[in-house]
Amino acid sequence: MPLLPSWIDSANRPDNPFPLNNLPYGVFSTGDDDPRCGVAIGDMILDCRAAEEAGLLAFDAGPLFDVPFWNEVMEAGPDLWAALRARLMVLLGEGAGERAQVAPCLVPQAGAMMHLPFLVSEYTDFYAGRHHAFNVGVMFRGADNALPPNWLHLPIGYNGRASSVVVSGTDVRRPWGQVKSPDHALPAFQPSRRFDFELELGAVVGMASDGPVTVDEAHAMIFGYVLLNDWSARDIQAWEYQPLGPFQAKATATTISPWIVTGAALDPFRVACPAREFPLLPHLRDTGPMLYDIDLSVTLTPDGGAATTIARTNYREMYYSAPQQLAHHTTSGCPMNAGDLLGSGTISGPTKDSRGSLLELSWGGKEPITLDGGVTRSFLEDGDTLTLHGAARGDGFTIGFGTCAGRLIPALPDPYAR
Ligand code: CA
Repeated sequence: MPLLPSWIDSANRPDNPFPLNNLPYGVFSTGDDDPRCGVAIGDMILDCRAAEEAGLLAFDAGPLFDVPFWNEVMEAGPDLWAALRARLMVLLGEGAGERAQVAPCLVPQAGAMMHLPFLVSEYTDFYAGRHHAFNVGVMFRGADNALPPNWLHLPIGYNGRASSVVVSGTDVRRPWGQVKSPDHALPAFQPSRRFDFELELGAVVGMASDGPVTVDEAHAMIFGYVLLNDWSARDIQAWEYQPLGPFQAKATATTISPWIVTGAALDPFRVACPAREFPLLPHLRDTGPMLYDIDLSVTLTPDGGAATTIARTNYREMYYSAPQQLAHHTTSGCPMNAGDLLGSGTISGPTKDSRGSLLELSWGGKEPITLDGGVTRSFLEDGDTLTLHGAARGDGFTIGFGTCAGRLIPALPDPYAR
């Protein structure tokens, strides 16, 4: 698919992440004004509240932009999603006849502050990247038993905390937690010493369900995707995770990028899941290409230092697609809601420089990585900023997400010292 031209010139640059082909959805504020919904176009944001008040966005579903989140648009359903995207294409496309009315609704991104784009109703994190699961398995159980016996038959997941989800740019405080004592004495309560990131993509569920859904139904339920960093305290995780899985190790924070890139924008980039080692059971079987060709990278920036790219990979490395994860999530009858967030699981590739966590990059701390400038890292240090980047590359245009960044700030003094 070629670039769709816009009358906003910056949107037509091949490297701008927000061409007319993209039109991602966020929530922003300027100065002392309240947060409101916006659509990124080039270097600008279309203020949806202003556009609705000006009569430029009017739908049978009624006012959609009198609230500072995208859940009402999601709940209006896929026909509205398509109608909104079509209307935005008209207003912002090269041939727009209403430029004079639209122009006052455009705000420069440079002066805007971004907020969480939707109310996160629930958050589930999966473990559906094969290279990541294999690498972690080798470290913890040895190469012969690296993948658990269920792994090739269902996407493993756990129920996370919606309350912990924050938007890019929010500082993350190093957590305290209980960790195993190396000498088998009593465990210790201390600040995490093995604090890590996980490179993931988050799928935003846009429609409610009440009962099992098929993979195709699940695909239609997904509103869009964000970059997602599942911050992880490895030392806390190692002690607490058996037998029920991660708990406090993953509950400090989960950072997402500020723009929801819609399934419609990503549709030209669909690719198939990898070959199956065993056929999936019928309800999880692939029905079409449901991954996306999205280049992903990670940069680590020490306090006052320069950014080093520490990993490059691609979303197509996943073993299970988000629709397969969502379909599996509903098999029990588990109700899903608009605003449900599904983490993909860490997206590692097959090579050493494509690993999506420091646990893998430094092989459990045994092989520290070297950053530009010569400093090394096994896990994150106070003041480090970790940033995820994502881009789907078309013919003369780029679909971006905005960055997903967070800075690690020092642990509190003993939180129980009174
Ligand atoms: Ca994860």
